[in-house]
Amino acid sequence: MIPSSFDYIQATTVEEAIQLLQETNGEGKLIAGGHSLIPLMKFRLTSPSKLIDIAQIAELRGIKLENQRLIVGALTTHRDLCKSSLVQEQIPVLAETARQIGDLQVRSRGTVGGNIAHADPAADLPGVALALDCTVTWHGEEGTEQAQAEDFFLGPLITALPENSVLTSVSFAVPPKHAKSVYLKFPHPASGYAVIGVCVLVGKNEQGAIDFIRVAINGVSDMAYRAVSVENALLGEQATEANVLKAAAQAARDAEMGEDLFASAEYRQQLCRVYTKRALSQVLL
Ligand SMILES: Cc1cc2nc3c(=O)[nH]c(=O)nc-3n(C[C@H](O)[C@H](O)[C@H](O)COP(=O)(O)OP(=O)(O)OC[C@H]3O[C@@H](n4cnc5c(N)ncnc54)[C@H](O)[C@@H]3O)c2cc1C
Repeated sequence: MIPSSFDYIQATTVEEAIQLLQETNGEGKLIAGGHSLIPLMKFRLTSPSKLIDIAQIAELRGIKLENQRLIVGALTTHRDLCKSSLVQEQIPVLAETARQIGDLQVRSRGTVGGNIAHADPAADLPGVALALDCTVTWHGEEGTEQAQAEDFFLGPLITALPENSVLTSVSFAVPPKHAKSVYLKFPHPASGYAVIGVCVLVGKNEQGAIDFIRVAINGVSDMAYRAVSVENALLGEQATEANVLKAAAQAARDAEMGEDLFASAEYRQQLCRVYTKRALSQVLL
């Protein structure tokens, strides 16, 4: 439980952080809240020779509304998200999700940028990011670049973030006014991470037909995924119990279920169906 020895330095700007990373020739790592990186270092699953602390870079903080998108600075903590009146008003499901991350200490230290960059399959934000049509922005050797969440998450702890770059912000689309939303999570009894998390955003037109729907699921497979089969089964349909049941039955279709000591692939499939049905029922019936 003791990490290998490492050097530590604080960066005060994004440019400086990039330069410091370059100087380590792939041996250094950025640290923000440290709540994912330090546990990995203690297990010696990673042993960076230098930690570059970005926590003091003021330009990476803050939440603003621009062109119907909430732009969240990478250093925004989960607690900042929960407490922000802008987030509560514009995208309540984002605040609701952040409230379910870890405990108060984790939410006070852990950052949105760290959560997205780390891409833990059991983390809560990647699923919600997919449902909210999130765009990830970073600054690196090629200047400023962006990717849609669907192209950013590539596998367990694997993203499209190039070497020597700093994730600077994440932007989330404000859902249509008539859309309702929910994030439903089954936390692992020991770690509190998501065994499954289902995020649903859904709206009905005046005739009662579903005209907007996004469903994303995290925790059950090696990365969060959009449950497109569920979306397709409900788009244009009436919000009846039978239609919800039929759609929820498709929830495990768009990903390969993972397996571990706690939950078999079959159990995860069943969780997908049950939690998707519950989430859809909560906002539709
Ligand atoms: C007890 C415990 C319970 C937890 N429970 C949950 C939970 O229920 N749900 C959940 O989603 N998470 C949970 N977490 C994880 C927590 O949310 C982390 O804080 C978060 O995932 C990572 O944010 P961080 O700022 O701590 O990142 P760090 O640990 O500092 O960094 C994580 C990784 O991201 C990289 N990184 C960080 N910031 C940037 C950046 N701006 N640009 C590029 N790379 C960057 C680092 O180099 C590192 O590889 C838990 C953690 C603990 C310790």
